[in-house]
Amino acid sequence: MAEMEQNDHRKLGQELGLFTISDLIGKGLPMLLPKGAILRGELEKLIIDEKKSLGYQFVYSPHIARKETYIKSGHLGRYDAMMPTMTDENGDEFVLKAMNCPHHFEIYNSSPKSYRDLPLRIAENGTVYRNEKSGELAGLLRVKNLTVDDTHHFIRPDQIESEMEMLFKLTDKIYNLFGFKEYKVEISIRDPKDKEKYFGSDEVWERAEKILIDSVKKWGVDYTVEEGEAAFYGPKIDIRVKDSQGRFWQLATIQLDFNQPENFDLNYVGDDGKLHKVVVVHVAIFGSFERFMGVIIEHYNGAFPLWLSPVQVKILPIGEGHFAYATQVMDKFKTANIRVELDISDETLGKKIRNAKTEKVPYALVIGDKEVADKKVTVESRDNGNLGAQSVEELIEKLKEEIKEKK
Ligand SMILES: [Zn+2]
Repeated sequence: MAEMEQNDHRKLGQELGLFTISDLIGKGLPMLLPKGAILRGELEKLIIDEKKSLGYQFVYSPHIARKETYIKSGHLGRYDAMMPTMTDENGDEFVLKAMNCPHHFEIYNSSPKSYRDLPLRIAENGTVYRNEKSGELAGLLRVKNLTVDDTHHFIRPDQIESEMEMLFKLTDKIYNLFGFKEYKVEISIRDPKDKEKYFGSDEVWERAEKILIDSVKKWGVDYTVEEGEAAFYGPKIDIRVKDSQGRFWQLATIQLDFNQPENFDLNYVGDDGKLHKVVVVHVAIFGSFERFMGVIIEHYNGAFPLWLSPVQVKILPIGEGHFAYATQVMDKFKTANIRVELDISDETLGKKIRNAKTEKVPYALVIGDKEVADKKVTVESRDNGNLGAQSVEELIEKLKEEIKEKK
């Protein structure tokens, strides 16, 4: 129990200066402080870099849409209470977006597509709004304002298998960077006793379900098949990961959709010259940045690997006589794009080291007379203890490598 409390991301978030929640702004509306913003920025950069390298195309879309958008998508009427609306001076009603899908569909429809254009993957780290009940709001894990690492894959029916393979590879690559190696996968399929309530032909469903199950088998992870858990519009895969505490967190969702291509006329010209409907796959790997941050704060107990650490290096001059050299050292780290802080407080060295430990900074560099004379720094590693005196240039090269490799 004590351990759980230690790891609580709400407590760590405050201690490490990552985020704050203000009663005035509202519950469920965490604000990221500068250090939390660095963490978020690194996560966004990771997602953008990895997806771009696979040919995903990033877009930006507005945060509101005409009410008709969500009537067309079928969300209004079903989830009205979750979707706040506003009315402009002409009486036109706008809905605060609860999902990015319709915007991405209209982006798809902005130009004609042929079978050669597919798969087409539209990505956006898109903020959506959910009118969650205030009683359910807890730190970063459940919020009213969340940013989904969202993608919509527009594919031909014959591309489901290859798309799943690509997605599992990407998911593995990203999760492994955080040390998430054990997953539990749930495959949601139709209720075999009530096939009428699902949209799409029996043939399409049977094939898609079989492909999902086969590709997860091929992936080689633990999985269960949940009958009757599929949405009416398509089967899906949910991925839960095991954290350092042995707890499982629901992160990724991969949802096939046979219905929205009909609602939004998402077509492509096939090699037969005729129009066909795409299959849409809705995917989020982190789920949301807020939730993922909450999960990894607890998973790492606030001690992030170097590449994610808001402060990567802290320089601790023992006395005032060492400030000038310490400042030179700091500038070298800054030039190397390593996030560095200089502690020029009046505290004793022991206290400065303890503070750096409390702040969970990966590397503290001690500078005293000897270090100034030898043009070196003494390295205190958060994870490996005292590493002795090292030259600044060599240390910078080592850390740059550690950051690049996301070790
Ligand atoms: Zn979607």
